[in-house]
Formats: sequence, structure tokens, C-alpha cells
Amino acid sequence: MLKLYNTLTKKKEEFIPIDKKNNVVTLYTCGPTVYNYAHIGNMRAYIFMDTLRKVLKYNGYKLNHVLNVTDVGHLVSDADEGEDKMSKSAKEQHKSVYEIAKLYTDAFFNDIHKLNISDPEHIAKATDHIKDMENYVKKILENGYAYETSKGIYFDTSKLPSYGELSKVDIENQKAGARVDVDMEKKNPLDFALWIKAPKEHIMKWDSFLGLCYPGWHIECSAMSKKYLGEKFDIHTGGVDHIPIHHENEIAQSKGATGKNPANIWMHVEFLLINNGKMSKSLHNVYTLDDLEKKGIEPLAYRYFTYTSHYRNKLNFTWDGMESCRVSLDRLRELTLSHKNGSNDVDDAIVNEFRTRFLDAINDDLNMPVAISIVWELAKYDVKSNKIFNLIKEFDDILSLDLDREKENNRCEVLSDEVNQILEERKKAREKKDYALSDVLRDKLKEEGYIVKDTKDGQEIEKV
Ligand code: AMP
Ligand code: ZN
Repeated sequence: MLKLYNTLTKKKEEFIPIDKKNNVVTLYTCGPTVYNYAHIGNMRAYIFMDTLRKVLKYNGYKLNHVLNVTDVGHLVSDADEGEDKMSKSAKEQHKSVYEIAKLYTDAFFNDIHKLNISDPEHIAKATDHIKDMENYVKKILENGYAYETSKGIYFDTSKLPSYGELSKVDIENQKAGARVDVDMEKKNPLDFALWIKAPKEHIMKWDSFLGLCYPGWHIECSAMSKKYLGEKFDIHTGGVDHIPIHHENEIAQSKGATGKNPANIWMHVEFLLINNGKMSKSLHNVYTLDDLEKKGIEPLAYRYFTYTSHYRNKLNFTWDGMESCRVSLDRLRELTLSHKNGSNDVDDAIVNEFRTRFLDAINDDLNMPVAISIVWELAKYDVKSNKIFNLIKEFDDILSLDLDREKENNRCEVLSDEVNQILEERKKAREKKDYALSDVLRDKLKEEGYIVKDTKDGQEIEKV
């Protein structure tokens, strides 16, 4: 029996899909805002998403899953305040907002593929769904859950007595916080923007029933989930930071438009910490997969690292911890391969017992630390048997760690600081379209023994 923890009920619940007849699970995951490179904390959220997908598949379900890409600007704060993230990034990098969106969307998918994360069935870009959002807002207005101000259309939270049902305790705190800097036109402090009248200088804007506007940031998820999954679907996932505002507002929007909470189960992944603190630019500790690779750590070792803690617990990243996971993954692969050509037979009862224990662990709300410990026990089994090899490969359909990979490819080459610095300078030169400098740096890399190629995913280097 598969049990999943539901933030809405604060309980682990037996999972039963809405479409039991066809065994299809409908899921929605809040995707990236593509204004910068995704960091390894973000990646924890998408590894969780992928592990959930694979656990569902292992249990025999078919999937209908939507991941959105927020490529329309939304504001720096979740609560309709601050600067537009996409425009800010475009200004800083002297690029158009559309170039920014393309650059970071491509980089995002490049990263998740390196982590063996499969693409969901639907990848929905916000900019491709502006009409759907507009119609959704109109429906909320028609139903009397929204009102117009000089700034745009706002959701009227006082019309929804259940507002705050997901985060419960946090809501009073939020009200207190929201009152500090209240927009006098809002009827209630927690009312939020659905559809915003674009000021002249605002770049991303669309013609609509209210003139040139752009969407509030919560509406895309409501409109796109309804479009692909219907008014009610099985599971909605995201990070814990989404609970108090973004998901609360998604629920409110859906109730305003359709009268329903859109998902039966709401699942949230806890944060990755760095040295027990927050990741932040000012502390220079916002790491990307690229940073890990430069230190010789392959992306899948990071995937392994995330399995050392349950997804509902905070996970603390340290370079020592990361390095020990890299070594562990190498060792686990070695042990797995030691069974590949093993001819000694292992009793089917033993194979089945391991399978049952593994299934119990993953079905206990994705208990990956326990699941990994069972794989270790199996890999260390003293009888070498091809049956064990095949069973580990079967488990690896979920773990996605390439456990049957031969050693030669395991470790990425560690580049010297000097080479990394030249690569960084060359990247900046190309961003500024300084191709003369870029060519000089290309020659410098050649002197260091590397050939550099410019691909759609950025620079790639090879030994001469
Ligand atoms: P964003 O692109 O900022 O919307 O974030 C993408 C996803 O990453 C969301 O699901 C966030 O909840 C999640 N996220 C952001 N920071 C972290 C972190 N430090 N640890 C885990 N997940 C995170
Ligand atoms: Zn969302």
C-alpha cells in the first residue's frame, strides 16, 4: 500500500487515484522561474518530483504530469511586491527578457537531465497560456471572488472562509505582516493580485479585457493545471516555501473559479541548507550543479546525497558530506557490478524478501534513506548472483543513479582553478558579445591543453 504525507490533512494517507479504472495519476509540480541558473536546493525539489513519479510508476500507475515554467515576470517577493524578477535579470545581463527566459529554461532542462530526471508529460510555459489565465481570472470575477482596483484585479480573501487551510497557523502571522505595508485599495491585507495593469515601462504585457496587463504569479498554476488535468487532480507538489502564499492562493483561485480545492494531496519538499544556514548570494554559497562538476562531483552523486535524508526533513549540504556521497556512490556501483556475472544462485525467496522490504520503504512516503540502506545490504550480499544485479537495476529505475555504470566514467575530470577562471572570463566575454576576447581566451585554453566548443548549453571543453 502506497502512503503519502498530505500537507492539507497533516497525515500520511493511503494513495488512491481519482481515475482508479485506468490507473492514471494526475500530478502538477510548480516549476522554475527562469531568471537565473537553478541551484542545488532547487534541484532537491525536482529530484523529489522525479522520485515520486518513479515510485508511482513502480506501483503500476500511468502518469499525467504537468511541470510549469514561469517565464513571465513575477515579482521578487511572493506577495506582489518588489521588482519583476525577469526584467531585473534582463537589465543586469543586458539581454531581452525573452533571451533570459530561453537561456535559463535550456540550462534548467540540461541540469535536470544530468540528474536523470525524466521530463513530465506536459511542460507548460506560462507565456504560452496567457489566454487561459485571462479566462480563469474572468471566471473568478464572474463568481464574485475578485474586484478591480486601479492596479488590477485582486482576489477577495474575505469571500473564502476556508482561506489559509493549507498553512493554518501561519495565516495570522501573515496577516500581521501584510498589514505593515498595506495597499489601501485592497479590501483585506491578504488579498492578492490576479491580473495586473501593466505600467508603461513594464516589458512583458498582453492585451486583455482590462487593457495591457500581465498575470499575477499564482494564476498560471491554476489555469494550466485545470487545462491539462481538469478541475480536480491527484497530487500537487512544490517546496515548503510555497505552502503559506503560493499554494494557499492557488487553492483560493480554484475555489473561486470551480468551487474545488484542485488537488487531493499536497506534497512539499523541505529545504536544502548549506552549512546549516540559508543559501544566499551575499554568503557566496549558492551552488549549481556546474559548481559541483567543477569540483569533480558528478550530478548523480548529488542525487545520491539527497537520498540521505527524508524529503520532509531539512538536508544540510557540506562539501565533506558531498564528497563522502561521491565515494559511496562509486563503491555502490562497484559492488553492484560485482554481481553482474555472478553465477551463484540465490533463492527466489531471498530476492522477493529484498523486493518487499524495498517496496515497503519507498511506499512509506518515499523513505529513501531506508530504501538506500536496503540496496547497500543487497549489494554487499556475499553470494555473487546475476539475480541480485538485476534486482538492483530494477531498484535503480527509481533511484536513477546509474548503478550499473562502469568505473571509468564515474569521476568527472577536476579542472584546475586557472582553467576554470579562463572559462568564466570567456563566458562573460561571450555574454558581452566580445568575440575578439573570447577567441584570445580560446587560444589560452588550447595552451592549457583544452579545446572549447560553444553549444546551446554553453561552453564544453575536451582534452586536446
Ligand atoms: P523557484 O524557481 O524559486 O520558484 O524555485 C523552484 C523550486 O525550488 C521550488 O519548488 C522551491 O520551493 C524550491 N526551492 C527553492 N530553494 C530551495 C532550497 N534551498 N531547498 C529546496 N528547495 C528549494
Ligand atoms: Zn505553482
